[in-house]
Amino acid sequence: MSRQIVLIPGDGIGPEVTAAVCKVLDAAGADIEWVTHTAGIAALAAGDDVLPAATLDAIRKHKVALKGPCTTPVGKGFVSVNVQLRKRLDLYAAVRPVRSLPGIKTRFDDVDLVIIRENTEGLYSGVENEVVPGVVTSLKVATQKGCTRIARWGFRYATRRRREKITVFHKANILKLTDGLFLDSAAEIHAEEYPNIEYETAIIDAGCMRLVQDPTQFDMLLLENLYGDVVSDLCAGFVGGLGVVPGANIGANEAVFEAVHGSAPDIAGKGIANPLALLMSAVMMLNYLAETHHDDPCCAIAASIRDAYDAALQDDCKTRDLGGELGTDDFADAVIARL
Ligand code: NAD
Repeated sequence: MSRQIVLIPGDGIGPEVTAAVCKVLDAAGADIEWVTHTAGIAALAAGDDVLPAATLDAIRKHKVALKGPCTTPVGKGFVSVNVQLRKRLDLYAAVRPVRSLPGIKTRFDDVDLVIIRENTEGLYSGVENEVVPGVVTSLKVATQKGCTRIARWGFRYATRRRREKITVFHKANILKLTDGLFLDSAAEIHAEEYPNIEYETAIIDAGCMRLVQDPTQFDMLLLENLYGDVVSDLCAGFVGGLGVVPGANIGANEAVFEAVHGSAPDIAGKGIANPLALLMSAVMMLNYLAETHHDDPCCAIAASIRDAYDAALQDDCKTRDLGGELGTDDFADAVIARL
């Protein structure tokens, strides 16, 4: 049965990579009816709000969305559409799997990490003040509810995916209350509900050093919002960069799938962006549909797309960010040819 899913093309390279991904999903036999809505600069250009009510309503109605990147200009007067979307829908769990890919040689082999980032609290509270001219503050928020639910979500994910160890990166030695609460909540969920999963903690500076020395010593990382943002991009560097790391933002009712990368204004409109990160996000989306709706065909289609892009990379079909020469569409065609 055809499934309606919200598609937000975004801006910058967004429309290019979303078109390529839709083409692959269609060729793979995914029976999806895309319900297209705008957000960010594209919505503003159409005379709408940065996050139009119609877009939010559509995601609430259809429950699942695939989203291209949206630009957030630095400075005053423009609230990040990505942060708003995550907060308004309470998409509190960001999942970012980072794995070594066939045919992409990097400093490390066999990286297979999952990063779980808390998506709604921390320094993304948006509470910034000018105390007096020349003195500004930004409020880092942690709640017991927020810390506990992300910890529980992470351990539940680890159990479902047969992951063995969760490491929490924190700075509770300095941020004793906020990071302290994050740490205590994770330790409590581990001790009371998931003692079978190995659990360790690391102060984030030392943790980052261990990470760049040998990322294979970690299995899953659980981090608060800002640390998760930074560490996700760092880990993307282990496996070939931002063009190859997918993401999902998941709440109690809705889920929005999007690549970790942004709108890449430096290469927008050139037809050279790598669509793989968004394609991988679409594969996560199909697996999510398979899990939440017991939809076996979705699971099979996800596997066929994953095998096809692995095969394309193995055959040296790559976009420029990975050292190849293919354009966005050429790469999509190379995947389709291997389905
Ligand atoms: P970026 O991820 O857009 O780009 C960083 C670098 O990676 C650039 O050199 C870019 O060319 C390259 N890159 C990114 N994606 C690529 C792809 N698919 N293929 C090939 N190369 C790729 O980060 P930025 O420049 O810091 O951010 C640009 C804008 O995107 C900002 O406004 C930022 O706020 C926004 N952003 C949006 C999201 C989102 O929508 N979820 C996420 C991150 C950043």
